[in-house]
Amino acid sequence: MNLFRVEKISTVVRRVPVAVPVRTSFGTMRDRPAVFLRVTDENGTHGYGEVWCNFPTVAAEHRARLAMDVVGPLVLGVELPSDLAVFEWLMARLHVLALQSGEWGPLRQVCAGFDAAIHDLAARRADLPLYHFLNAAAGARIEAYASGIGPETPAATARSAAAAGHVAFKVKVGFGREMDLASLATMRAEIGPSRRLMADANQGWTLDEALERGGEYMTFDLDWLEEPLPADRPVEEWRTLAEGIPVRLAAGENINRRSRFDAVLAAGLLGVEQPDVAKWGGVSCCMAVARETMRRGASYCPHFLGGGVGLITSAHLLAAQAGNGLLEMDVNPNPLRDEMTAGFLDVEEGGITLSDRPGIGIAPDDLFDLGSS
Ligand SMILES: [Mg+2]
Repeated sequence: MNLFRVEKISTVVRRVPVAVPVRTSFGTMRDRPAVFLRVTDENGTHGYGEVWCNFPTVAAEHRARLAMDVVGPLVLGVELPSDLAVFEWLMARLHVLALQSGEWGPLRQVCAGFDAAIHDLAARRADLPLYHFLNAAAGARIEAYASGIGPETPAATARSAAAAGHVAFKVKVGFGREMDLASLATMRAEIGPSRRLMADANQGWTLDEALERGGEYMTFDLDWLEEPLPADRPVEEWRTLAEGIPVRLAAGENINRRSRFDAVLAAGLLGVEQPDVAKWGGVSCCMAVARETMRRGASYCPHFLGGGVGLITSAHLLAAQAGNGLLEMDVNPNPLRDEMTAGFLDVEEGGITLSDRPGIGIAPDDLFDLGSS
């Protein structure tokens, strides 16, 4: 590894209203926020990262302030870990502050953003696309699925996603049995019997509800059932559910400790692992979890529901595994994603071919030049 130093950091917060709120079983997004990071080396080369900030959306600015005033100074001008394990390196330094402040989530999210930005910078310095920098044997082709399909207009949303090239779809459930069954029936009728259909309960059920609903919803031939239980429920509950319903379980976007990922993988409870690169672990830890996921015979399908930087980073992480996972692509309108990724994540028959430009390929400097803080 050619050692380098970060000489400058920048952050930018953007928030755009949306005409149709994005509903989940636990809350509604009435606008779409995003926090982007930029790190710059001594040559003026940039790297870009994104910090998760979806809920509550009003706290996006808080993450940006933590990035500039608390976490950023730890990466400025110092020797970075030679293996680029930036997330764990930063969290070790922030451990006491996180205990004292209780800000575990925001600090993890900001550290994840810096980890990704520094990997992007390192890949650009090596003049390699990020997926190739992470795994020289990886190819540029990935598979994707349409996500974020709510209970309001599932047929119309699925139709427009299919027109955009998608062949696999995930619908949100956890809104009550009647509404869930209506959504699932509409989706299955819309996409036909052979397309992949997944359901996401967003941690909305108790074990008893998950056993009952999960069992009933299997009549729609689900490929996976996502977050049927809250992420922190005991391993025994997840085991009871995994043994009780005939579908692979998915989770990971709300797992925030390596030991927990290892525990659920070792117990064989999840068929699909979904860490979020902007929320926990950054590129370094998500790579490690993804490798372990595949070693255990499960699928790595990166979670993402945010802006363009994090989505393209997720796409490169997925490509770097060269496995059978799918990229989560939110199909709800989000200008902070769509303008940035235009031409870079075009879906054709469910697949995407990544750009061979260095790093994650895009360089959203106009955002930073408009609004650096
Ligand atoms: Mg989900």
